[in-house]
Amino acid sequence: MKTKIKKLIMEGQDFLVTTHIDPDGDAIGSAFAFAFALRSLGKKATVYFNDQVPYRYEFLPGPQITHTMPHGMYDAVFVLDCGSLFRIGKGHEGAALLKPLVNIDHHDTNDLFGTVNLVDKKASSTGEIIYRLLKYLKITIDKNMAENIYTAVFTDTGSLRYENTSLSAYRVCEEMVKAGANPSQIAMMIYENHPKERYLLLGEVLRTLATYNGTVAIAHVTGDMFEKTGTNSEFVDGFVEFIKEIRGIEVAVLMRELDKDLYKISMRGKGTIDVAAICNMFGGGGHRNAAGCRIEGTIEETRRKLLDALCAGQ
Ligand code: 5GP
Ligand code: MN
Repeated sequence: MKTKIKKLIMEGQDFLVTTHIDPDGDAIGSAFAFAFALRSLGKKATVYFNDQVPYRYEFLPGPQITHTMPHGMYDAVFVLDCGSLFRIGKGHEGAALLKPLVNIDHHDTNDLFGTVNLVDKKASSTGEIIYRLLKYLKITIDKNMAENIYTAVFTDTGSLRYENTSLSAYRVCEEMVKAGANPSQIAMMIYENHPKERYLLLGEVLRTLATYNGTVAIAHVTGDMFEKTGTNSEFVDGFVEFIKEIRGIEVAVLMRELDKDLYKISMRGKGTIDVAAICNMFGGGGHRNAAGCRIEGTIEETRRKLLDALCAGQ
């Protein structure tokens, strides 16, 4: 796969780089680092994101981003950190027509949508795969790339805490620090730089917290709560991990209202249940311990569907 990608990069000139909706640290860090890397080779890299960069990642050095799917012809389209092509958001139908389509990812539920698929389910993060690819391409990793790759690996491993925290994840972080990434500064920007409103929202969300059987914790967030606290969906990042901290909890769930009777589910596991398999039952996916999906229905119906699925999956 890497040889094919190398050939595409060396022979091409004009590339498109994109990632998933609601981009997280791995999505943004991987896309930015890769775009910088392509540019360091004298190539043109256009970066398309469906959504804005969340405030906590605004500190990352990055190229200019377009939020409208470009219609031009590219020598290759790189889709990073995406298990399925529809997850790039608006314009995914058009992207399917753009060939070659290179899928670089580490999700357990990746459906190999690319014409070239560099998918390593064992990798801690897409950032780690990008790091290996840059080494393979003999690209010198500068400070801008290093900060992005460090952020990708650090955030996708839950600050080097989750079970995907492999020796190779540590090694990539070490290399990135050597190349100029500052760990304490990056951690502070991501985790200790929130607007006060985030905590007003957290208060509202925690009021909805319920546990079931001592092993499942569910909370939800509504459009009204966002309005009341002057926040939006990007302020919710980290809430599901927070309720996962409760002792004995095996599955934590945050239900976010997207529209009337439509919920985005974020699920986290720390026990024996494979939450990607549960989310897959609703057409979603992710990793064994971190996954998501969308469910239609009222809040009570959605909660019931989830609890039934969790019971069946146990
Ligand atoms: P989050 O809950 O933070 O949105 O997502 C957790 C993990 O599940 C991430 O790796 C994300 O890419 C994946 N994920 C979230 N929602 C979906 C979805 O609807 N479909 C698929 N295939 N993966 C999802
Ligand atoms: Mn990832």
